[in-house]
Amino acid sequence: MTNSWVNWAGDQQCAPATIATPRTADEVAELLGRAGDAGQTVRVAGAGHSFTDAVLTDGVLLDLRNLNRVLDVDAATGRVRVEAGITLNAASNALHEHGLAFPNLGDIDVQTVAGATATATHGTGGALQNLSAALHSIELMLADGSRVELNAETDPEGWRAARVSVGALGVVTAATLQLVPSFVLEGVERPVPVEDILADLDSHIDTNDHFEFYMFAHSPVAMTKRNNAVDLAEQPRGKAVDWFADMLMSNYTFDALCKLGRWQPRLVPLIHRGAAYAGSYRRQVDRSYRVFASPRLIRFTEMEYAIPREHSAAAIREIKELSTRFDTPMPIEVRWVAPDDAFLSPATGRDTCYIAVHQYRGMAYEPYFRACEAVFDKYNGRPHWGKRHFQTADTLRGRYPDWDRFAEVRRRFDPKGRFSNGYLNRVLGPVD
Ligand SMILES: Cc1cc2nc3c(=O)[nH]c(=O)nc-3n(C[C@H](O)[C@H](O)[C@H](O)COP(=O)(O)OP(=O)(O)OC[C@H]3O[C@@H](n4cnc5c(N)ncnc54)[C@H](O)[C@@H]3O)c2cc1C
Repeated sequence: MTNSWVNWAGDQQCAPATIATPRTADEVAELLGRAGDAGQTVRVAGAGHSFTDAVLTDGVLLDLRNLNRVLDVDAATGRVRVEAGITLNAASNALHEHGLAFPNLGDIDVQTVAGATATATHGTGGALQNLSAALHSIELMLADGSRVELNAETDPEGWRAARVSVGALGVVTAATLQLVPSFVLEGVERPVPVEDILADLDSHIDTNDHFEFYMFAHSPVAMTKRNNAVDLAEQPRGKAVDWFADMLMSNYTFDALCKLGRWQPRLVPLIHRGAAYAGSYRRQVDRSYRVFASPRLIRFTEMEYAIPREHSAAAIREIKELSTRFDTPMPIEVRWVAPDDAFLSPATGRDTCYIAVHQYRGMAYEPYFRACEAVFDKYNGRPHWGKRHFQTADTLRGRYPDWDRFAEVRRRFDPKGRFSNGYLNRVLGPVD
């Protein structure tokens, strides 16, 4: 029987020589030793929620799902030590009991802590950085099984590289997170004309803790989402309401509409207008992570680019207009994040607008995504490392001010390229 691994979207697969699910960091070290003896390269799989070939290998694939424990909680400082394979959801649930929460999350929370931070996974919030900013320190295991504890004090260069590493430096076995006191969010969804949003964009972004919107190419109306911390008690939705809102309307009904669009692409404009108008006012008041994240059952593929915030409105208009020329039943999502200083963070050094385009499974994505990428290129866009793009190290180098500093740290931690794969060789270049 051959080993095989496939990502969540079902469109990235590989047949590694070995797939291992270690339970301890010592087992990871042993596996690295054996891989070294056999001259095999090593990659780590998180929850497999990247759309790129970031995880793929024909060498050794380490699946860290069993390294999933909370190791230590200091409720007074908000610092929490976790194993790297714990999911954001498991961590949120466990840490809520200690009165702690992530300051921000994306649309889903099933990713692992190490996998999400490795690609600079983000939520939305003009004053909030991506999820890697919640890292306080990282335990990194190198190819020889040795461990280094990286943080801003022990190794400032290594730290800025390791927070967003796309798995290029070694195996992250544990992390200390800096969390915030648990909070209740009021989430309000409301349809608003796209042009009304764009006319007053800064105030939408700056007067909400978390502002984002979805829009459909063929509809003038967008669905806005505002999440704000409130001083109210949690009002968890009943299971039936949850099922109706998250599963029936957002997943099953929309999946059926996407299937219709795949079967009859000429119906896409109609589906867009229907889907945009079907969205209505919704309000949810609950603990933060239940409002941030919701289940995603529809299978699709995605491209997402980080562009300078000042170009938000122009790029949004261009992508919306361009999307009318392609058959995709799916929406365009727009979010904002604050700058950080991780060398490979798409938000490094600049206030950022993220624009994501999607294609339903089984429908051609490449012509659409290439056309969108040409627009993002114009704005010096930086791709999400976990979402589809067509860049190479040559086209990316000039977009990251500290590109060479990352390469230097990579040479130091992984001089022989033992953690490389096709994706890294393409987008970061081989270790030289
Ligand atoms: C339905 C869906 C919704 C999404 N929503 C968002 C969103 O709202 N915001 C956003 O920014 N992104 C989003 N994403 C993208 C997703 O968050 C990223 O691709 C993320 O990296 C996936 O995490 P994962 O745990 O599945 O890691 P994987 O995809 O398995 O791995 C990602 C990378 O991390 C490396 N890695 C994993 N674990 C380790 C480790 N322990 N040590 C070293 N390297 C490691 C892998 O080798 C790989 O390079 C979404 C994806 C999907 C499918």
